[in-house]
Amino acid sequence: MNPSKYLMAMTAGITAGIAAHAAEKPNIVVLLTDDQGYGDLRCYGNPKVTTPNIDRLASQGTLYTDFYAGAAASTPSRAGLLTGRYAERVGVPDVVDDTSDNGLKADELTIADYLKQHGYATGMFGKWHLGYQPEYMPCRHGFTEFYGLPYSMDMWPFHPAPDHAYRALPLYENEEVVEYNPPVDEMTTRLTDRAVDFIRRKASDDAPFFLYLPYTQPHVPLGVSDKFRGKSGEGLYADVLMEIDWSVGQIVNTIDSLGLGENTLILFTSDNGPWLSYGGHAGTTLGLREGKGTTFEGGQRVPLVARMTGTIPAGKTDSRFFSALDLAPTIIGMADAGMPGKNNNFDGQNVAAILKGEKAEAHKPFFFVYNGKVEAVRDGRYKCVAPHAYRIVTEPGRDGCPGRQIIDGASTGLALFDLEKDPYEKNDISKKKPEITARLHAMIEEFQKEMDKEMQQYK
Ligand code: MG
Repeated sequence: MNPSKYLMAMTAGITAGIAAHAAEKPNIVVLLTDDQGYGDLRCYGNPKVTTPNIDRLASQGTLYTDFYAGAAASTPSRAGLLTGRYAERVGVPDVVDDTSDNGLKADELTIADYLKQHGYATGMFGKWHLGYQPEYMPCRHGFTEFYGLPYSMDMWPFHPAPDHAYRALPLYENEEVVEYNPPVDEMTTRLTDRAVDFIRRKASDDAPFFLYLPYTQPHVPLGVSDKFRGKSGEGLYADVLMEIDWSVGQIVNTIDSLGLGENTLILFTSDNGPWLSYGGHAGTTLGLREGKGTTFEGGQRVPLVARMTGTIPAGKTDSRFFSALDLAPTIIGMADAGMPGKNNNFDGQNVAAILKGEKAEAHKPFFFVYNGKVEAVRDGRYKCVAPHAYRIVTEPGRDGCPGRQIIDGASTGLALFDLEKDPYEKNDISKKKPEITARLHAMIEEFQKEMDKEMQQYK
């Protein structure tokens, strides 16, 4: 795994953006894939996938090797990304579906809320997954335009191994249901068309825009349009990645053709690691330990590529760690879009200096929390893992049907890993470094008390 090697090989064909809007607030574009693994891109070292547009974005911007999703599953991860706060605080500590009565709390502000208050057009096209009841949906959380799904596409009547009878999956246009059970093969193209149209419309207005595009792929059920079916030669999952890559190309080309490259921050990332129990319909971590639903690196370390021409260094690989909890405070800082009040109480921090490739103070410790349980902390190069049970896959799935995963099927004792030397979490060095282990473990226990207080609201 040597991302820089692949970047070096790329030609840095940077489009000279026209600085027409340079003095204005930056446009913000967040492209979020669903369950895409750390190793599912060519620029991250996977030779079997074809992702030229994302690789080019990385060569024109910076690729981050040590970036974490806010949590190891869709709902809490998205809550963290949009609010900059741990999901436990904001109403959605665990995955929600069509039977859940909770959602992102009304008084929690998202990136869209902040930016909208500062004159941004805010469009979201894709999967929400922060509560399906009207009061929880995107248009009540700062988005002026929404087209997409309330939760994951597999939470529908065609689930191959349902745990309950799912109702028909609604597709929304703003607050209206416009279709049920939309075709899975068309989703990436449809979302892309909506996003491109949004950029074009808003570029002709005076207002800056925030585009949030949470793809429904490559989460199961996998779907790909005829344009890409069979094109990768490496199976359906790789075809799906090709189409996502095409989509990124469409969006970046639109931005560049409008001369907005210098005034648009583009972030490409994933919400959590691969869902390994789906076998060939899941992605890869390229050796990182475990996957989705666990707080090991395979569950939470995800790709992040960022580009803002002239602001973010081109063709660089940065190994400083930070997380999706930092994106809200960073974006709001870059857009100078703060609001007074308790909701500025972010768990994340403004990492604009890291994005700009500048010297930055050491990042504060990042806690890996799963449904209220603080399972690990990263501080600098070290990750301390507290004793806990975790999910394992005993039999991988085939052809879109899940195999066998056992929740709490394995357990770990207290461990310490040096992620600079051992990103695979193979060599526990807690016995060699007892002071560091004790210090970090105490931090976990202290933060656990805080999370326990937050979890009281769900009892
Ligand atoms: Mg996900």
